[in-house]
Amino acid sequence: MENRKFLTFARTSIKNLFRKPATVGYPYQPADYPERMRGHVEIKTDNCILCGLCMRSCPPGAIRIDRADATWTINRFDCVQCGSCVNACPKECLTLLPGYTQPASSKTEDVYQCPKRPTPAPPKRPA
Ligand code: SF4
Ligand code: SF4
Repeated sequence: MENRKFLTFARTSIKNLFRKPATVGYPYQPADYPERMRGHVEIKTDNCILCGLCMRSCPPGAIRIDRADATWTINRFDCVQCGSCVNACPKECLTLLPGYTQPASSKTEDVYQCPKRPTPAPPKRPA
């Protein structure tokens, strides 16, 4: 019994010595992205109306909107690439592109400047 286990182990080990590694040396070698990978969030800032629906739909709270500064901010290390923000955006300015977040030694945020929109006037009260 023990001999049979040892033979199986030895056979598997020898086979694996001649196989290609199952991993790649990312980020030093380009990654081969799976066909259905969701990837990282990209924004077309021209269309963004700073409505905040993406921020409210983001489970880990990776998106922040600042209407006063007209900025859209994402913490890519908090993003779990679920795609909820892409589905929530009424202006279709968010997309998921295949790719991994670049490794870094500290958490950083990407800040995007959106067009400033005039604040809508408050509704008039009936006289
Ligand atoms: S993909 Fe998901 S986790 Fe990432 S920013 Fe959008 S809603 Fe948040
Ligand atoms: S990205 Fe889309 S959902 Fe998010 S604030 Fe801009 S328009 Fe609204």
